[in-house]
Amino acid sequence: MHIVVTNDDGVVAPGLLALATAMRSLGEVSILAPDRNWSASGHVRTLDRPLRVREVILADETTAWACDGAPSDCVALALCGFLSKPVDLVVSGINPYANIGDDVTYSGTVTAAMEAVIGGLPAVAVSVDSPDNHLGLVDYSAAANVALKIARTMMRTGLPRGLLLNVNVPYIAEEMIKGIRITRQGNREYHDRLDKRVDPRGKPYYWAIGDVPTAQAEPGNDAEALKNGFVSVTPIQLDLTAYRFLPEMNSWNWE
Ligand code: MN
Repeated sequence: MHIVVTNDDGVVAPGLLALATAMRSLGEVSILAPDRNWSASGHVRTLDRPLRVREVILADETTAWACDGAPSDCVALALCGFLSKPVDLVVSGINPYANIGDDVTYSGTVTAAMEAVIGGLPAVAVSVDSPDNHLGLVDYSAAANVALKIARTMMRTGLPRGLLLNVNVPYIAEEMIKGIRITRQGNREYHDRLDKRVDPRGKPYYWAIGDVPTAQAEPGNDAEALKNGFVSVTPIQLDLTAYRFLPEMNSWNWE
């Protein structure tokens, strides 16, 4: 099995190395990731300029590819022939913060997995719910082991085409994790405020600031699983059609 590992935090992020190391138990790993942080960049394809890729050596001496495009650009490159060997699975992460609820369309971690789905491949996005005020290095060991277990199960059982798994791991010791919950995508509440300032030339500029997003834990959703010490696994599809609204909308009078 040939696995592409990518992320949105940049090729030197420790979460990427932890994930790549774990995935080597499952198959041959190629690392192709952005050369800088693309967190919250969304689903991107760079079309107005060429993409450049260079070889880099990671902390454990393994070779990786660093690309100057977005996470989804990296996956597109990998699937369009940059890697001569056919790819069987794309795994993205490990993001140091949870990607739940409405985060999924912002998240470079998740949108990299979406690009794999568009390319017809199964994909897993992995994030760990470390607290925003966490000091020091994030420990990715539990999340990496969980990611391996989930990817192995998914490849053995088979995931229907068009789906990806969005995995969020609570930031607790591995032995404290209570298990895996299959969840639905919940909601996020963002607390953005606009801070308007004036530059030295008298022109206004804007910072979007605010407290960290919160999430409502509801029965069966991603936030509830994390809150209760479970790994949250949400099957995600790219079809965003509001099916429940179709019948009502079909009755609209367009005159
Ligand atoms: Mn990130």
